[in-house]
Amino acid sequence: MRIIVAKNSGFCFGVRRAINLALNLSEKSGDVYTIGPIIHNPQVVKELSKKGINVIKKLGNIRSGNIIIRAHGIPRQTLESAKKRGIKILDATCPYVTRSKKYVEELTGEGYRVIIIGNPHHPEMKYIASYAPRDSVILKPEEMINKKLRLKQSRKLGIITQTTQSPENFIKTTSKLLNYSNEFKIFNTICPDATNRQTEAVKLAKRSDVMIVIGGKNSANTNRLAAISKEIQPNTYHIEMANEIKSKWFKETDTIGIVAGASTPDWIIKEVVNKIRDSSKTVK
Ligand code: SF4
Repeated sequence: MRIIVAKNSGFCFGVRRAINLALNLSEKSGDVYTIGPIIHNPQVVKELSKKGINVIKKLGNIRSGNIIIRAHGIPRQTLESAKKRGIKILDATCPYVTRSKKYVEELTGEGYRVIIIGNPHHPEMKYIASYAPRDSVILKPEEMINKKLRLKQSRKLGIITQTTQSPENFIKTTSKLLNYSNEFKIFNTICPDATNRQTEAVKLAKRSDVMIVIGGKNSANTNRLAAISKEIQPNTYHIEMANEIKSKWFKETDTIGIVAGASTPDWIIKEVVNKIRDSSKTVK
């Protein structure tokens, strides 16, 4: 039995950067806080809490100390109230996510109605949308565009997308939007790292009998990898930890492909590989 781990597995640049910034700050300044998890991996967040990097739900939960802004960013209003309270702030928002926010400001300044393709509940979308005017729309790719938009045909549209969307979703949704105006400005804000992982997941799913996708169940990029992989290989399992693995998954299996989300640490990937090796010995 062969186990193939995708080359692009483990922390992406934005996640590694956020974690390093948080660790440096906690070494220098003691306890630091993040509003919401710094990245979408519960195991990493738990390890970081042992090093004084604590998750709070709301700003109101702290009176002083240091805040580190997580990789997905925080809404403008939250940032402004932290500044007013005199709380020290270190911004660990991923530069790709910050770039999307700058495009929103640019589009707004140029009079475009902003359309953001993505999941409105994701923190990255809440951050970006907080810099967009009220008439902006966050559009789920699967949504019926005509129900949601209520656009005047003549209004010019500025389009960006969540960094973890698939290029296919972006292209399909943008093509539909072409019916709603005759003037557009479109920025492809998909993260190159996310695209590379998706491409690798497709290739690996095609040559594997079983696919294991490792990463937080709350991680948008991991969920997308799992969805893409499942479309090609129905024997796809999305897990967070090695102890979720079941030996029955590997019956009559030659090749097992492993992909991991951008917030999955190397130590979890290694544990999964070892567990699969052990499980394969006990397959009946
Ligand atoms: S997946 Fe891309 S956008 Fe998201 S944190 Fe990593 S580098 Fe940044």
